[in-house]
Amino acid sequence: MQYSYFIIIFLLVLSALFSGLTLGLMSLNPSDLRRKIKIGNKNAIKIYPLRRRGNLLLTTLLVGNVAVNSILAVHLGSLTTGIYASIIATTLIVFFGEIIPQSLFAKHALKFGAKFTWLVYIFLYLFYPITKPISYVLDKTIGGEIPNSYSKKELHLLVEEQKSLGKSDLKDHEYAIIRGGLVFSEKRVKQVMTPARNCCVVNSNVSLTRSALVNLQKKGHSRIPVYDKKAKRVIGILYAKDLISIDPAENISVKKIMRKEVFHIHDHDKLDRVLNMFKKKRLHLFIVLNHKNKFAGIVTLEDVLEEIVGEIVDEHDHVVDMRLLDA
Ligand code: ADP
Repeated sequence: MQYSYFIIIFLLVLSALFSGLTLGLMSLNPSDLRRKIKIGNKNAIKIYPLRRRGNLLLTTLLVGNVAVNSILAVHLGSLTTGIYASIIATTLIVFFGEIIPQSLFAKHALKFGAKFTWLVYIFLYLFYPITKPISYVLDKTIGGEIPNSYSKKELHLLVEEQKSLGKSDLKDHEYAIIRGGLVFSEKRVKQVMTPARNCCVVNSNVSLTRSALVNLQKKGHSRIPVYDKKAKRVIGILYAKDLISIDPAENISVKKIMRKEVFHIHDHDKLDRVLNMFKKKRLHLFIVLNHKNKFAGIVTLEDVLEEIVGEIVDEHDHVVDMRLLDA
């Protein structure tokens, strides 16, 4: 009699482990596990080789669970008979064999799952002749794991969620950069450019006299678009660093010293494209055109980067944001 109780307890524990492991291990996503392995999570390292073969693992755990529950029912039947046997068997199996272990494993899948991989391996090899053909058919018909893929919006929400949970080691500024990186490409040049009315430009026919140089220096910009009134367009860029060697007495014209390489983009272009162009062209300032191909403003590398990392204030900036000068 005592021997039978011992067997029933042993079978109940086994049943609990099978159902807990089924829910726990199957709820772990292989891509999540791979990421955890990359950061050295020991539990993930133990679980992944099993979880990787999803259908084989599932078949093993289910075959094990059903087998144990059936043997358990038979043993309980040998202790009592009739309606009592089925009520006792159902109550024991449902509470101790299913509900309690599943709820525990659902909460601590990684920790508990890793503790019992040895048990899973025993049954994996024990049931292999039965489970391998079943899982092979499942792999061929239903297929293996489909890797998780997140849209940009989902990623954004995921990071936001992690941030609001307060458990992540993500710092405020890191969160801001990630968020900026995810949303900046949706923005258009028009939203970040310095509009033409706030741009410091110089006319192409201006001579670089002392007062002109002082004026330009006062503006404090590294690059100044050179506007040609006749052509009604920007024909070059005057670089502040090129003015250092200028002799004011020579009255050199802006046209002579400006650099002719001007790159135009449209005000409706998206910022990820513009950032790529900045990298490709190795320039820091683009001239923005509107839908009529007219000069609409300028956009610099800093304007785009600020959308990712937040406001950058130059050490020599008089105005914090040129774009909002008259706002
Ligand atoms: P700078 O080196 O002249 O400060 P940045 O590329 O660092 O230029 O840009 C800083 C801010 O100044 C940006 O918002 C940019 O649009 C604006 N900016 C740059 N050049 C000019 C200019 N010539 N006229 C008006 N605003 C400018």
